[in-house]
Amino acid sequence: MALKEGEKPIVIGVAADSGCGKSTFMRRLTSIFGGEGVGPLGGGFDNGGWETNSLVSDLTTVLCLDDYHLNDRNGRKVTQRTALDPLENNFDLMYEQIAALKNGESIEKPIYNHVNGTLDTPETIVPTPIVIIEGLHPMYDERVRDLLDFSLYLDISDEVKLNWKIQRDMEERGHSLESILASIEARKPDFDAYIAPQKEFADLTIEVLPTQLDEEDKKTLRVRCIQKEGVSDFSPCYLFDEGSTIAWTPAPSKLSSSGPGLTMAYGTEDYYGKPAQVVEMDGTFDNIQELVYVESQLSNTSTKFYGELTQAMLKLADAPGSNNGTGLMQTLAAFAIRELYEKKAAAAKLAVIEA
Ligand code: ADP
Repeated sequence: MALKEGEKPIVIGVAADSGCGKSTFMRRLTSIFGGEGVGPLGGGFDNGGWETNSLVSDLTTVLCLDDYHLNDRNGRKVTQRTALDPLENNFDLMYEQIAALKNGESIEKPIYNHVNGTLDTPETIVPTPIVIIEGLHPMYDERVRDLLDFSLYLDISDEVKLNWKIQRDMEERGHSLESILASIEARKPDFDAYIAPQKEFADLTIEVLPTQLDEEDKKTLRVRCIQKEGVSDFSPCYLFDEGSTIAWTPAPSKLSSSGPGLTMAYGTEDYYGKPAQVVEMDGTFDNIQELVYVESQLSNTSTKFYGELTQAMLKLADAPGSNNGTGLMQTLAAFAIRELYEKKAAAAKLAVIEA
């Protein structure tokens, strides 16, 4: 959808390592904005990759920040640096182009081709009301960070990341365990130095950890949605009573769970020195429809009617994480972004009328 006169896009940053659920999150987000997840390039969703560089719904455009890599894969062999290293990324151009989009101007964005690791001919990007920048460094450069209206970090713990990579690269793509471990180890120093510190700047972080319900269990997940307070047009979601500390075991007869059971928690805490509210789910549920029971106890979900959260989860029942806290927290984040957009759009409209 073209911008209306005087309208400026809102810009959302989504940071995460590759293979950590960005495509799945984008799918949940665009589904809430009414997108089918199929861009004009004809790309669809699969777990192998998000069709980036394209208009994904009438409202949203997603830019993959890998497109701002300075060198292609061969070039990095010469520099001996990983793509996680800021020196391998063109932050000047990233800033210039995102600032232009935010100002309502089109850009000629470079294209990094993941298949062969080379840089393709740039493409024209026309701004839409919501521009999402996703990749390794959306919050790294201060100038780019200042352009963001909301920022999200998908924080997958090392243990879970390894399990997901084993599942995808070993079981589905036939890679060896040694090669997976080697590639994780090789990336780790730069990941810790340049990617993880961006958590400090995230308005919302989804932390994915191994369950605490059973020490032996390597598959079940404990997921924490860490929501910063004081972010403009964002009201953190809470369980039962805002500001309290809550530990809740939903009645198994209302929310069935095979495996080690299911618990929820809520509380406030300091996250990188800033006050935050945290909603947590540990465990797996059997039936998405029963999630409506959890939804009935959550407030500030940014939904428009009771049941909308569960409905959104049901719509993407086949997506990874739809039976645990990853899907739930991603969906909550998507609704928060929708509300933020609607509030900002309404305020901008009012400003135009008043001018
Ligand atoms: P990215 O876009 O960051 O590369 P994807 O969303 O494509 O990540 O997910 C990559 C893979 O990680 C999926 O194919 C799946 O195996 C695993 N994965 C992602 N999210 C989850 C989840 N919530 N639960 C379990 N596995 C997941």
